[in-house]
Amino acid sequence: MKPASFRYHAPKTIEEALALLAEYAPDDGRVLAGGQSLVPTMAFRLARPHHLVDINGIEALRRLGVEQGRLVIGAGVRHQAFHRPVVEGPLGVLLSAVMRHIAHYPIRTRGTFCGSIAHADPASEWCLVAVTIGAEMVARSAHGTRSMAAAEYFQGVMTTALQADELLAEVRLPVLSGDTRFGFYEFNRRAGDFAMGMALVTFRLADGAIIDPHVAVGGAEAYPRRIAAAEALLTGRAPEAVVFRAAAEAASAAIDPLTDAQTDARYRRDLVATVTRRALEQAAG
Ligand SMILES: Cc1cc2nc3c(=O)[nH]c(=O)nc-3n(C[C@H](O)[C@H](O)[C@H](O)COP(=O)(O)OP(=O)(O)OC[C@H]3O[C@@H](n4cnc5c(N)ncnc54)[C@H](O)[C@@H]3O)c2cc1C
Repeated sequence: MKPASFRYHAPKTIEEALALLAEYAPDDGRVLAGGQSLVPTMAFRLARPHHLVDINGIEALRRLGVEQGRLVIGAGVRHQAFHRPVVEGPLGVLLSAVMRHIAHYPIRTRGTFCGSIAHADPASEWCLVAVTIGAEMVARSAHGTRSMAAAEYFQGVMTTALQADELLAEVRLPVLSGDTRFGFYEFNRRAGDFAMGMALVTFRLADGAIIDPHVAVGGAEAYPRRIAAAEALLTGRAPEAVVFRAAAEAASAAIDPLTDAQTDARYRRDLVATVTRRALEQAAG
């Protein structure tokens, strides 16, 4: 099928894009970033936007670098930019490792980091990263700029606090300290498919005990989230199998699992226990 007709706009500056969104968002105007989620839904006529505001020509949105202890990722930065570490230390390695699980190579060369965060698929790897390490989402509109923490930003399946006339201009990730360990484990039936369940964990060790654990699960609920019960079981404990198993079981018990044609709630709970345990083992390794 072909998309329904729409008007195409190609701003060259952020200000032009914001003015176009202010004018056309009320008439179902949408941002077009990499197009890897939006265009297929238009082709199936699941979405019929009347206006597309293509941000690909805006040079200022391609920012990617560390500013004041935060990695700033502009709306024009594509998944593939993370192929090699973009920042020294664990954060760069973590982003590279996670990026390899997103879709397939051609999609990674077009799809954008911020597009994934705006689209907010429950199984988006970048959304899981944002939740786990405490990203800040920076939204701009003709009315001004605001930033949101992940807890405020993610609201449901493909639902965020972003308003229709707002551009997610950039996402800022805290640079992880050099001693941060991480583990990421994702399960899907075919390489490149969306995750059926995944976990990302980070922690540090002090005198052989776990400190500052972050344990988050994605692909299993409406949106990724940190699991406080699992983190509490890890804090102050040695990084060993019995502790990891307890934390993984706590994560499994804490979720309200999504179900679909492939997976029922019980399957997803089991899966969450497994992916969480494996992510923890990887971090310890
Ligand atoms: C076969 C296939 C497999 C895939 N597998 C995965 C996967 O395993 N994991 C994964 O995470 N993703 C996967 N994707 C999705 C892919 O990562 C997309 O690139 C991503 O979800 C959206 O980014 P985009 O830049 O292409 O956004 P677009 O498709 O251009 O936009 C998506 C939505 O977000 C809005 N939007 C985009 N950017 C902004 C912005 N800066 N501000 C405000 N709104 C914005 C658009 O208006 C639209 O509603 C897959 C896609 C395909 C086709």
